[in-house]
Amino acid sequence: MTHSTGTLYIISAPSGAGKSSLVKALTDANPEIRVSISHTTRAMRPGEVDGVNYHFVTREEFVKMGEHGDFLERAEVFGNFYGTSQSRLQQTLDEGHDLILEIDWQGAEQVRKLMPQARSIFILPPSLQALHQRLTNRGQDSDEIIDGRMREAVSEMSHYVEYDYLIINDDFAHALDDLKAIFRANQLQQKRQQVRFGRLLAELLG
Ligand code: 5GP
Repeated sequence: MTHSTGTLYIISAPSGAGKSSLVKALTDANPEIRVSISHTTRAMRPGEVDGVNYHFVTREEFVKMGEHGDFLERAEVFGNFYGTSQSRLQQTLDEGHDLILEIDWQGAEQVRKLMPQARSIFILPPSLQALHQRLTNRGQDSDEIIDGRMREAVSEMSHYVEYDYLIINDDFAHALDDLKAIFRANQLQQKRQQVRFGRLLAELLG
């Protein structure tokens, strides 16, 4: 039987577009889809857990990992370092799991070059007003940080054209359906179905 590997997905969005909530709802419904846990030098937010949301590391540790070639991609966002560790990434795909990288456009650019078979999805908010509202409602950041994030958001959003799929997160349930549809359609590709239904196909064709 031939071996089918999972698909690598890049998902980007400006902060406040609802990316993490959508990805969480997707993986809650489809536990076989995995999410890569990035390394970051930024401070932990209330409610975040080390090793769950991110691997929180010092700048020294991050730089050392970079020097060891541990990162598939890395970028500086809002003055902090973020990176995707290579370890277990290929193994997860080889085991047949789809794997999501929640990364910014700079990381996406690097991953596309290294793994052109990766699929990329960009999530947009329904309006600037809604984005501002969502950033304010988080209640975790100061006005200054929110203003900075709004500017960063516009800059991040300008990269949507580089992505294969575009989802507008106006209604959460609808956006989640859109996201699920992308994964579902991909899982139905003939090559993947051939592996999944190998026995049936052998029976049908004799
Ligand atoms: P936050 O600090 O709000 O969790 O994330 C800030 C930004 O960093 C988001 O755009 C997020 O997608 C991006 N980010 C998170 N992890 C990584 C990573 O491993 N690599 C890159 N390039 N960006 C990341």
